[in-house]
Amino acid sequence: MNEWLGSEETGEPFSHCLCCKLPLVEIAEPWLVNKEFARGECVLEYAICQPCRDRVTEELSEESKAAVRGFLEREIDWDARMREFMLSLDSTERFGACIACRTPREELAGFGISALLDSGGSLVTGPLPLLICQPCIGRMTAGLSDRSREVWRKFLAENFAGPPTDSGFPGLL
Ligand SMILES: [Zn+2]
Ligand SMILES: [Zn+2]
Repeated sequence: MNEWLGSEETGEPFSHCLCCKLPLVEIAEPWLVNKEFARGECVLEYAICQPCRDRVTEELSEESKAAVRGFLEREIDWDARMREFMLSLDSTERFGACIACRTPREELAGFGISALLDSGGSLVTGPLPLLICQPCIGRMTAGLSDRSREVWRKFLAENFAGPPTDSGFPGLL
């Protein structure tokens, strides 16, 4: 799990929040680790603390948040997934297939992973950690309003070098 949740760039666990740049272990808040892979390579990775995550999601419209929630409720069989997760001792098994369409990871061209760590850096197991494939991410974000897409583009542009794109696993939503 540490390998999954560490930074591919540094080979170490994430140490600072992407947005506020504070050391994660020094703030008494949980944080989220999100990584996106395309064709076997990590193309986006970051850790974001709960207060920063809340600030970003606050900018999203209620309709957009409802659309994402709707997808998660409709397309994911949470009862079945949570049963599997509870039977499994190894939480990295959750990264074996897409949480929504259940396509095995080996068959996926692109996917995102998301995990929640508590304020001490321990993995929190609940609906997260999870893996979701690119097509399902597309379906999840299909209901986002233009304004909410703009919030996401701005987040990427402010925090990452390179031209802003529509891609990027919006795992923090
Ligand atoms: Zn932060
Ligand atoms: Zn999928």
